[in-house]
Amino acid sequence: MLRVVNEVRRYEMFHPNDRLLLAVSGGKDSFVLFDVISRIHKPSKLGVITVSEGIEGYNRDEDVVWVLKSCRELGVDCVKTSFKEAVGHDLKDLVERSIKSNLNVSPCTFCGMIRRRIVNRYARELGYDKVLTAHNLDDEVQTAFINMLRGDLNRLLQSHPKGPRLSDLFVRRVKPLRKVYEWECAVYAYLRGFKFQEVECPYILSRPTLRAKIREYLYRLEGVKPGTLLGFLDFVDELIVKYVSNAGIPPLPICRFCGEPTAHNRTICKTCELLSKVGALDEG
Ligand code: SF4
Ligand code: ZN
Repeated sequence: MLRVVNEVRRYEMFHPNDRLLLAVSGGKDSFVLFDVISRIHKPSKLGVITVSEGIEGYNRDEDVVWVLKSCRELGVDCVKTSFKEAVGHDLKDLVERSIKSNLNVSPCTFCGMIRRRIVNRYARELGYDKVLTAHNLDDEVQTAFINMLRGDLNRLLQSHPKGPRLSDLFVRRVKPLRKVYEWECAVYAYLRGFKFQEVECPYILSRPTLRAKIREYLYRLEGVKPGTLLGFLDFVDELIVKYVSNAGIPPLPICRFCGEPTAHNRTICKTCELLSKVGALDEG
């Protein structure tokens, strides 16, 4: 438990005076991060956002009760919002539309894109300095590995806390648990007696299989040589900080529908494109 607290405490990507917005899902890692950060950061400089996707049977309201109660007790601001409120449709509706339109888009793609957009927009509009997410070491290594296998340097940079900020509209996302193994988060949560999301997302089986395969492969490597994941992430950090982050990548253009940043060579962001393809984009 102490190692988890120490890792967050010595994480250098936020300062005591930063206003931090923590994105809390019903998962154990975000509960762990909330528990640690609320002990070491001033409550007046901390906010929490929970976003309900609107997935049938996935009972987020019950699962975040502890967070909402803790926020009230600690005097931490809390925003509770949903996909429905932000884009006019819940995830279940978007998935049904996607199936009807014969689009081969996984629910997780919609889910991740819309969630990131909502959290970033709230953080920007409410004047937060950083967004905190609860990605752990296992998540980070899997993501870096996937981006490398795909040869996607832009994504590798954008998912890294020290990568260049390619738009002023992005609030920097930092990940204080990125050097903490998933099992350490699980032990912390268990020892603290947290009750977290017991219902599994029904779309979990549609998760990209590449991630599942890489996850299994990395666990095997870690089993044979403990410390492999940490060593790999240290290597990625060094690569990005020393050699890549100042590569002079131009700022991102703006989506003509939603006004959020989009990839180079695009005029419409991927989120708006997909919403439009399933007839769910409010073009007014
Ligand atoms: Fe979203 Fe996919 Fe996770 Fe379900 S499994 S919450 S759809 S990212
Ligand atoms: Zn857009």
